[in-house]
Order: sequence, then structure tokens, then C-alpha cells
Amino acid sequence: MSLRDRIDAVEVRVAEACKRSGRDRDEIKIIAVTKYVSLETARAALDEGLHHIGENRWQDVKPKWEALHERGIWHFIGHLQTNKVKDIIGKFAYIHSLDRLSLAKELQKQAAALNMKVNCLIQVNVSGEDTKFGLAPEQLIAFAQEIKMLENLQIVGLMTMAPYEMAAEATRPVFRTLRELRDKLNELAVLPYRIEHLSMGMSNDFEIAIEEGATWVRLGSVLVGKDEA
Ligand SMILES: *Cc1c(COP(=O)(O)O)cnc(C)c1O
Repeated sequence: MSLRDRIDAVEVRVAEACKRSGRDRDEIKIIAVTKYVSLETARAALDEGLHHIGENRWQDVKPKWEALHERGIWHFIGHLQTNKVKDIIGKFAYIHSLDRLSLAKELQKQAAALNMKVNCLIQVNVSGEDTKFGLAPEQLIAFAQEIKMLENLQIVGLMTMAPYEMAAEATRPVFRTLRELRDKLNELAVLPYRIEHLSMGMSNDFEIAIEEGATWVRLGSVLVGKDEA
């Protein structure tokens, strides 16, 4: 399948998921996750009209970012080590993996030094798997209270990953829980502003995530493919 065909096929599936759940297509943005593909494929994705690019390791994304950063909106979606914050700060419009206080403080420090705000999503480990990063759901409110005084951080949403091997339909409770957590944070007004985004859904489960309220789906293999290693 060509890249164009893949994008068109994903669009059809996104549209159908919107229809099933009574959502407006404009509420959902697709992040093209280019970590498995070359710089040339990432460039082709931008040429085909994809605008949001997701990557998870600075060492790997660096050449792509340097060549293409003016053409898209860049999302850092992977686990972020505190000592790597200085490499990526100011380069990515959104960081989807805020999962601990030490990281929040380092982001605050680096963003303040640059006199900028950094847009973050709090990663929540809804499924509770040992192999996944993220706060436990019951830690979320206390964490939001702790970071709300870090004034260079702007929390724009929540992010989660569903267990990979689950059948797509079995992921629904994970996504639903993330939506409920966002609604609860807003209802309790834990932060002095409302948070909107739900970054959830990958190649194998994005339709369920959309039905449950995703505003960003992060799509790698189904959308841009995987280059041979
Ligand atoms: C790799 C990755 C994706 C995309 O994975 P696919 O299953 O290929 O769509 C999405 N989110 C995160 C956090 C990733 O690391």
C-alpha cells in the first residue's frame, strides 16, 4: 500500500468511528508516529498533508527534527529522562509523557530559563501494567495539585497507552477511565484552567479510543508503515 492509500484508509476508519459515536471529525487530530520510519518517509508524510509528528527518542528523531521541524507540529510521546529535558525543550510543541514530580520540576526549570511555557500531558497508567510508565489513576489529583504552582507548565491533557496485546474492544475501559479522569480534574477545578486533550489510541485500538473521546490518536504502523530494520 502506498502512503496515500494508508492515510486514506485511516481517514475512512476515523470517520466511521466518529459516526458511530456521534463525534465531529474536527475534534480528533492524527499524530503520525514516525519512529519506525526514515527521514524520507517522515518528509513524505508531511507532503501528504499530515501535520502532527510524534517521536519518542531524541537520539533517533534529531536528524528528522533538524530537517523538518519548520513543517509540522512536533509531539514528544516517549518516556522522558530528566537529563534529556534540555535536549528537547523548546523543540516539541507538546510533551505527552509527564509522569513524575522530578520531571515536572526539571521542565519548569528549563522552560523558565527560556521564558516559555511548555505544554504537557500527564501520562496515566490506567491499565496498571508494570511495563508501562505513568501515574496510577489514584495519584492523579494529588499530582495535579503539586504541579499547579509550576507556572511555566501548561497541562493540556492526559495520555495513556492500552495494553498492546488486548483485543481492541477490551481496551475500551482503559480509554473510558482516562476520559473520566479528565472530566473529574475539570469538575474539581484542580488546575486553574480546563484541560481538554485525551491522547489515546494507537494502530491497533484507535477506533475504540475515538469512540471514548480521544482528541489525539498516535498512529505509527497503520499510517506511515514500518521500514525494514
Ligand atoms: C510507537 C508509539 C505509538 C505508535 O505505535 P503504533 O502501534 O505503530 O501505532 C504510539 N504511542 C506511543 C507512546 C508510542 O511509543
